[in-house]
Amino acid sequence: MCSSMGAQILFVAIDGHPVYVCPMCEVAWPTPQRQFIVDSADTIDDLAPNGVRLPSDAEIDAVRASGVQLAEVAVDWAEFVVDLLSDGCEVQTP
Ligand SMILES: [Zn+2]
Repeated sequence: MCSSMGAQILFVAIDGHPVYVCPMCEVAWPTPQRQFIVDSADTIDDLAPNGVRLPSDAEIDAVRASGVQLAEVAVDWAEFVVDLLSDGCEVQTP
């Protein structure tokens, strides 16, 4: 697990639940983690064995409505997202 934990990228498991991923070490969580406080450390495959996809606008709105603060993916993370989705995971676009 990396020491620069900060940004977590929101994906959605194929079966519909959110998966938050640290782009530095690819550890995944079912809920967003507070910086430097980690209660679990699973892999994307652990939480989404059938793969992940990008969230739809409605799913993003629902996550925001639950109180989670989201920002659009910075350009720095875009390459990670494309690599992750095109490499080891099943990909579906909303
Ligand atoms: Zn990390």
